[in-house]
Amino acid sequence: MARQEPRDGLERELERLDGAPYGRYRGLAGAWRLGAGRTLRLVRAQADPFAPPGRVTLWIDGREAGFDPELWATPVRRRALAGYLVRCAAREARGERAYHLDAGGQEVLDRSSCTVGADGSVTLRLGVALPGPRRRIDGREAWRLLGPGLTRLADRALRAGALEAARVREFVETVEDAAALRAALPGLGLVGFVADGALLPRRSGADDRPARGAGVVPFRSPEELRVTVTLPNAGEVTGMGVPEGVTLIVGGGFHGKSTLLRALEAGVWDHVPGDGRERVAARADTVKLRAEDGRRVERVDLHAFVDHLPGGADTTDFSTDNASGSTSQAASLCEAVEAGARVLLIDEDTAATNLMIRDARMQALVAKEREPLTPLVDSVRSLHRDHGVSTVLVMGGSGDYLDVADRVIMMDAYRPTDATARAREVAAVPTGRRAEAESFPGVVHRRPDPASLDATAKGRTRIRSRGTDYLVFGEHEVDLRAVEQLTDGPQVTGVGLAVELLVRRGHLDGRRTLAQALDLLETDLAGPEGVAALLSVHDEDFAVPRRYEVAAAVNRLRALRVLR
Ligand code: ADP
Ligand code: MG
Repeated sequence: MARQEPRDGLERELERLDGAPYGRYRGLAGAWRLGAGRTLRLVRAQADPFAPPGRVTLWIDGREAGFDPELWATPVRRRALAGYLVRCAAREARGERAYHLDAGGQEVLDRSSCTVGADGSVTLRLGVALPGPRRRIDGREAWRLLGPGLTRLADRALRAGALEAARVREFVETVEDAAALRAALPGLGLVGFVADGALLPRRSGADDRPARGAGVVPFRSPEELRVTVTLPNAGEVTGMGVPEGVTLIVGGGFHGKSTLLRALEAGVWDHVPGDGRERVAARADTVKLRAEDGRRVERVDLHAFVDHLPGGADTTDFSTDNASGSTSQAASLCEAVEAGARVLLIDEDTAATNLMIRDARMQALVAKEREPLTPLVDSVRSLHRDHGVSTVLVMGGSGDYLDVADRVIMMDAYRPTDATARAREVAAVPTGRRAEAESFPGVVHRRPDPASLDATAKGRTRIRSRGTDYLVFGEHEVDLRAVEQLTDGPQVTGVGLAVELLVRRGHLDGRRTLAQALDLLETDLAGPEGVAALLSVHDEDFAVPRRYEVAAAVNRLRALRVLR
């Protein structure tokens, strides 16, 4: 973004506009000097007092911010430092209702709301509701918010001198350790890691902070699965390594199976100090799957799981506007692998039973010719052996997976034990079940039609989130309720911006496959542009998504067309 020379005299200008019609705030758009090393930019003025707040960028140069260069030496450290600063700024701004600042939750993501540059500069992007009693400019109040107010925010929250150095360092080092842990997993032959002492349960289904109280059982790894990893800051850390292959989590109801899986699910993100999951990590290419009846499916090759349907539909090239539980989960699995997922997480609580299992008695009752579904139990081994895709599965209700699991983790009153040997003994007694497939044939890569991914509505780009549930994309509303690793509304906005970028930059050109286009997107986001790559369409808050969530949104867009 070209930075025009900032102007002086915002206070004078606002004094002059006091009492003028509200619309004249627009004339203030642009950059203003706000004291030494600080620039304020009014990116977009509100159209009227009831419209969404105006957008303001506050930039503080590296010298004025004054952070130790070590704290912003790498992209991960810059993300962490920005994550710390935006939380400080949000705390500082709490009493001021005119400021709208996206501080994020327990995860530390690349966010538009605060970025740290490779020169140590700090950029804060926030909404400021510009005051307008009776639709007139209140110049004095506007100056208080934009001048002294933001100066105070910068002074107290965005400068090294105002912050506790040890806390800043702890935050940065915690995030760096988590990222290093995740990156180390493939080399250790692991798909996940849960450190001893980790606190996995959350306060409630609607509150992602750690559960409190005497009843919380800290994680303790079973000896057989205990591994030691060396992290850049914390040094040696022990915990449970979840190996590649097929891992089963079993145990009685309410014994903590789903909680462990959810911790792994969230292990693709880094967490704030005090979260309890700071040293829980899953490989970056881990995708949670679930059943999602009613979703659209566009031209996915499902024949590994679904064949000879009653209507005679071609399941090697399958489309529907209204998938069943099993076909939706089969499609989501194929799409995840197509997008590059190498670890799949599935919980019996949210899976389609008939896609997961078909036991000996049901095989005896319903002939294979009359059952379109081939259960995952018969291809899950091949997924790993032939395609390098590991699976971690919570399955307390059926023993058929004991035949195919490499590892069995038993949860007993929130404590994991290695039940692999015992499971082998149990599995040695035959059930009479016959395998229904030899192998998983692999996925077919698809070429989306970029014209079908239109972000405009009434001639304007429209990308918005409704919490983590829906993405508004052009004329469409994409249902993302089943995409469970999305963290927050701004990340959903980030997904929409990423889809728009795929089309606008020509990454999706009708010839490239979705996976190839996602490779280019990742290159853009990892490059020097970083977060700014997604910044160009508008200036709403967003967080940078993973390729898997971007793919999930493309696949759920009801307008999506795949080219032949
Ligand atoms: P399951 O999937 O085995 O039925 P859940 O994972 O849903 O069990 O956990 C059941 C309940 O126990 C939840 O309310 C969860 O928050 C709580 N819980 C899970 N792990 C722990 C733990 N380590 N300490 C205390 N409570 C826990
Ligand atoms: Mg459960």
